[in-house]
Amino acid sequence: MSDRTVTCPACKGPAQYGPANAWRPFCSQRCREHDLGAWASESYRMEDRAQGGDEGTEFTEPAPEPLRSQGSGTH
Ligand SMILES: [Zn+2]
Repeated sequence: MSDRTVTCPACKGPAQYGPANAWRPFCSQRCREHDLGAWASESYRMEDRAQGGDEGTEFTEPAPEPLRSQGSGTH
């Protein structure tokens, strides 16, 4: 008795929100898969970016050798 209608995030249409609707809060399987696919690709892009940045910082970890003037004491 808790069935109610919500707005489908994918197609903005009415979706039944209840045990009868396995794709809730989406209205259909197509809408659910479409939204999941878009979300997954987006998060994958962000992860890819973060990983690239991490590697960059690791690469620049070794600091440049300090220039020491050798033999300047003995002239
Ligand atoms: Zn929908």
